Amino acid sequence: MARFVLIGSGLAGGLLAAYLGRRGHDVDLYERRADPREGNLVGGRSINLAISTRGIHALEQIGIADEALKHAIPMRGRMIHNRTGALHFSPYDVDPKNCINSIGRGALNTTVIEAAQRYPNVRVRFNHKCTDVDLESAVAHLETVNGPVTAQGDAIIGVDGAFSAVRKSMQIKINNFHYDESYLAHGYKEVTIPPGPDGSWRMEKNALHIWPRKSFMMIALPNPDGSFTCTLFWEFEGPRSFAAAKTDDDVRRFFNEEFQDAVPLMPTLLEDFRNNPTGSLVTVRCAPWFYRDKVCLVGDAAHAVVPFYGQGMNAAFEDCVVLDESLETFSDNPERAFADYFCRRKQNADALADLAIGNFVEMRDKTASKTFRAKKKLDHALEAALPGIYLPLYTMVTFTRIPYARAAKRAHVQDRIVQAALIGFLVLVIVALAALLL
Ligand SMILES: Cc1cc2nc3c(=O)[nH]c(=O)nc-3n(C[C@H](O)[C@H](O)[C@H](O)COP(=O)(O)OP(=O)(O)OC[C@H]3O[C@@H](n4cnc5c(N)ncnc54)[C@H](O)[C@@H]3O)c2cc1C
Repeated sequence: MARFVLIGSGLAGGLLAAYLGRRGHDVDLYERRADPREGNLVGGRSINLAISTRGIHALEQIGIADEALKHAIPMRGRMIHNRTGALHFSPYDVDPKNCINSIGRGALNTTVIEAAQRYPNVRVRFNHKCTDVDLESAVAHLETVNGPVTAQGDAIIGVDGAFSAVRKSMQIKINNFHYDESYLAHGYKEVTIPPGPDGSWRMEKNALHIWPRKSFMMIALPNPDGSFTCTLFWEFEGPRSFAAAKTDDDVRRFFNEEFQDAVPLMPTLLEDFRNNPTGSLVTVRCAPWFYRDKVCLVGDAAHAVVPFYGQGMNAAFEDCVVLDESLETFSDNPERAFADYFCRRKQNADALADLAIGNFVEMRDKTASKTFRAKKKLDHALEAALPGIYLPLYTMVTFTRIPYARAAKRAHVQDRIVQAALIGFLVLVIVALAALLL
C-alpha cells in the first residue's frame, strides 16, 4: 500500500481521501483552513452548488450519497424571470425524475471529510498551508501557527483548488509544463433572499431561478432553511458594472431596473452587496497533471472551469472515481496509474471548459428568447420520440456519465442532422406548395 499526502480538503480532497482510505492506502490530508465543522465556511466561494448524476455517482460508489443528499433540494428546471417579473418554467429534461440538486457546500464538505475519517488510515490536519512541493522527493512544505513543517509521501496529490500551490510548484520546476489561465470579464457576488416569516421559500422552491439580461444575469438556488442564495454575474468594468456601482443608490437603482421582482424579497441587499466579496471566474488548463510517480493533480487544481454548466465539482468528483480506478488497474505502477488517469480525463476537462463558457452565453442571453424555448421543446420531443438515440447536450452532460468530450461531439452531430432534416422538410413543403399552386 502507498502513502499519499493530499493537499486541500475541499470537496474533491475529502472524497479522494475516502476513496484512497478504502483501498487501504495511508493518507495524510492537509488543509490550509480551519475545520469547516467549526463554522468556518469556505469564504468567497458559492454557498450552494448544483450536484447531478456524475457527482452523485461518485458519492454512491463510496456509500455516502444518501447522507449527502439528505438536505439537498431537487431543481426540476429553469425558472426564467423577465424584466416585468413574468415567469416562464422550462424543465431540464423530458423525464421529470431527472433534476439537479441544490446542496450546501459546507455540509457536503463536512460529509466527505467525515467519510474519509471513518478509515483509521486517513488523518486530516487543518490549518496547514502548503507553500511548496519538492517534486523529486514527494515532500510538501507546509506553514502552521507553530512554524514550518514537512510531509513526505510516496506521492503528493494536489487537490488544492483553482489557485493550487502544488500546481505552482510543477509550473516552476517542470520543463515544458503547459499552463493557461483565462479570466472572464465578469465577476460574481452573492446576495440573499431570506425565508418567509413561516420559514417557507418565497419563490418556487424546486427550480433554478435565472434573470437573464443579455450581457449579465442573476441566478438563485434554494437552501434547506427556506432562503435562496442569489449570484449576480456582472461585468467588472464598464458604464454598468461592479466598478460603476459605487454607492448604495447605484446598487438599488440597478437592482430596481433589472430585478424588479426580486428586490422586495431582498431586505439585506445593500449590506450583502457591500460585505460579500466579488469573485473572479477563471478557466485553468494545464498539462501534464502528474510528475512521474511523485505528484498528481485532481479537481480544480487540474482544470478549473467557470460555473455555468454546474459541473466543476461534479467533474472533480468524477476525477476521484477515475483516479481510484486507474490506481486499482495499475496498482504496482503509480506512474502508469497517474498517466492513465490524465489520459482519460484531460480531453474531457478541456471539453467541459468550452461547454461551461458556451453555457454562460446561453444562460444570460438565450434562455429569455422564444427560439431557446422552441429548441428545448424540440429537444425534448426528439428525446421522447427517439429514446436512447437522441440525447440533448444538457441531458448528456448533466444526467449521464457519457464523457464530456464525447457528449459535445455527439451533440454537434445531432444538431447537424436535425438542421439538415428541418431544411429537407422545408424544401419538401415548398415543393408541395408549388406543385399545388401550379
Ligand atoms: C460561484 C461558483 C458556483 C459554482 N457552482 C457549481 C455548481 O453548481 N456545481 C458544480 O459542480 N460546481 C460548481 N462550482 C465549481 C466548484 O466549486 C469547484 O469545481 C469545486 O469546488 C472543486 O473542488 P476542489 O476540491 O477541486 O477545489 P476546492 O473546493 O476549491 O477545494 C480546494 C481546497 O484546498 C484548500 N487549499 C487551497 N490552497 C491550499 C494550500 N496551499 N494548502 C492547503 N490547502 C489549500 C482550500 O482551502 C480548499 O479547501 C462553482 C464554482 C463557483 C466559483
